[in-house]
Amino acid sequence: MTDHHGIRLDGRIALIAGASSGLGAGFSRLLAAAGAKVVLCARRRDRVEALAQSLNASGAQAVAVEMDVTDSMQVAKAYDVAESHFGVVDTIIANAGTARGGRSTEVTEQDIRQVIDTNLLGTFLVAREGAKRLIANDSKTSERGRMVFIGSITAQQNHTGDAAYAATKIGIAHLGRQFAKEWVRQGINVNTIQPGWIHTEINDAWFNSEESKTAIAYLPRRRMLEANSLNDMLLYMCSDRSKAITGATLTIDDGQSL
Ligand code: NAD
Repeated sequence: MTDHHGIRLDGRIALIAGASSGLGAGFSRLLAAAGAKVVLCARRRDRVEALAQSLNASGAQAVAVEMDVTDSMQVAKAYDVAESHFGVVDTIIANAGTARGGRSTEVTEQDIRQVIDTNLLGTFLVAREGAKRLIANDSKTSERGRMVFIGSITAQQNHTGDAAYAATKIGIAHLGRQFAKEWVRQGINVNTIQPGWIHTEINDAWFNSEESKTAIAYLPRRRMLEANSLNDMLLYMCSDRSKAITGATLTIDDGQSL
C-alpha cells in the first residue's frame, strides 16, 4: 500500500458524497485506509452498501446511506445517520457530480437543471448541512472542520458541449472561497480540487469514442489523468496538517489545461 507521507486520519469522521463510483468510491477507500470512519453517500444504495461491506470486512469502519444531493432532507438524514453511527462529521468531500453533453442550443432544460442542481446546489446543500452541525459542535475551538469540493479544469477552459457543467465547476470553486471566508473563524477549512480528465463513469461513453482519441492526442502529455493522482492532496486537505490552508483552488491535471 502507498504511504501517503504518513498522513493518517484516525479519529476523523468523513462523509463522501457521490461514493457509488469513480473518484468518490476511490476517495472512500483512501480515507478509510487512512483510519477515518467513512459515511458513503449516493443515490445507488446497492453500490454504497457493497462498498461499505467490503471496507468493513477489511477492518475499516464504514456506513452506507442513500442520499440525493439535490434533496436537503436526504442530505440532513445522511448526517443524522453519520452521527448515530460515528459522531459529528468533521471531514466532508463534496464530490457528487453529473454531466450532460451537447450544444447549448440543443441541450434540454431538464438536463441543464439536473447538472446545476447536482453540481452546484448539491455542493451547497452538503457543505452547509455539515457546517451547521460543525458550528453547533464548537468547531471554532477544535478547528477540525475540513471540506474538499471537487471542481474540474473545465472551470478554466472553454469547450463546446459542456457549458452548464463548466459553469457549475467555476461556481463550485467560488462557492468554496465564499464558504471559506464565511466559516474562517468557525474552524472550518474549505478547499477545491480541480482535476483533469480521468476515465470514470461520467465520461465513459466519450472515452470510448473516436473523438476522445483525438482530444487525448492534443493533451500536453497525451494521456488521461490517473485517478490516484489526487490522493496525496486529498488526504492532506482532510488532515490536521492543512490547518492554514483554506479558500484554495488547486488544479491537479498532469498539465492538461496548459
Ligand atoms: P462518476 O460518474 O463515476 O461519479 C459521480 C458520482 O456522483 C457517482 O457516484 C454518482 O452516482 C454521484 N451522483 C450524481 N448525481 C448525484 C446526486 N444527485 N446525488 C448523489 N450522488 C450523485 O464520475 P467521477 O469522474 O468519479 O466524478 C466525481 C466528481 O469528479 C464529479 O464531481 C465530477 O464532475 C468530477 N470530475 C471528474 C473528472 C473526470 O474526468 N472524471 C474531471 C474533473 C472533475
